[in-house]
Amino acid sequence: TPQIGVLALQGGVAEHERMISSLGARARKVRRPADLDQLDGLIIPGGESSVIGRLIDLAGLREALINSISNGLPTLGTCAGMVLLAEWIENPAPGQRSLGLLPIEVRRNAFGPQVDSMELSAGWHWPGEPEGRIRAAAIRAPEVIAIGAGVEVLIRASIGGVPRILGVRYENLIALSLHPELTGDPTAHRALLALAATVGEPERLPAR
Ligand code: GLN
Repeated sequence: TPQIGVLALQGGVAEHERMISSLGARARKVRRPADLDQLDGLIIPGGESSVIGRLIDLAGLREALINSISNGLPTLGTCAGMVLLAEWIENPAPGQRSLGLLPIEVRRNAFGPQVDSMELSAGWHWPGEPEGRIRAAAIRAPEVIAIGAGVEVLIRASIGGVPRILGVRYENLIALSLHPELTGDPTAHRALLALAATVGEPERLPAR
């Protein structure tokens, strides 16, 4: 059974744990560096990215998280989790530092305050698969405003008449502006488990 860690310092942890269990994997709360041992995947949940960032430092988790994730641990970041993975934050909170592992720039709270939260359905473009859809909540959601080389766009949606990037993939990382764990849509969690299942397997060569 794959073991998926859920960073459990602040934010929406329980919904991700439930989602992981419902897909037949085991969820484990990550609160200290040792909790990262022997994981097949990791979720960084939504919450408040500046607070989670500070708690990461207080828990002594910064270096361990950066090492595990940059060594290939499949990781899904949702909302604040996306902000934490991003290399660049356009409008960081005072003193805010991210983990800086995913070459995107994000704008925090791009769609207004909590009261402007919404649920939306958007196209899901996983490379090499037919287009699907994902239904998820946007709650003080970040927007991706720039992407670096090698970043694939998973979710695009028009909000306020403007096309926005709300989900990306880069190597072992999936990051969403949205909360699919609140609508119960398993698309992104399935994608994380699929990445977790391929880790350690040899890269398949293209057919000749
Ligand atoms: N805007 C929040 C932040 O910057 C994210 C909100 C959320 O995770 N729902 O962390």
